[in-house]
Amino acid sequence: MNSEKAEKKRHDELQAVTRMIEIYCRGKHGHNISLCKDCQNLMDYARSRIEHCPFMESKSFCSNCIVHCYSPDMRVKIKKVMRYSGPRIMFYHPVMCINHALTSLTAKLKI
Ligand SMILES: [Zn+2]
Repeated sequence: MNSEKAEKKRHDELQAVTRMIEIYCRGKHGHNISLCKDCQNLMDYARSRIEHCPFMESKSFCSNCIVHCYSPDMRVKIKKVMRYSGPRIMFYHPVMCINHALTSLTAKLKI
């Protein structure tokens, strides 16, 4: 995979995570415009993981290796977000092509 593709994937990955955290915060914490403090922290953390991921060119999606990459407490949080937002993101953002990510995530985390 060339680096241009890797950058696009990084961008897509970040978009998907952002949407999922937004949906979660809106649904669970009642924040519509901006994220609450907790979710903002999680977002910042997720973004830094994605930006610094050394495997972006070779792996499929972060959801495949999230269990190795995230610290235990952040892993618990992002799993909650994905469990909540995963099914809903298809409704809110049907054009977003994250089918693959969700499929493999579901398999990995058994949610
Ligand atoms: Zn929140």
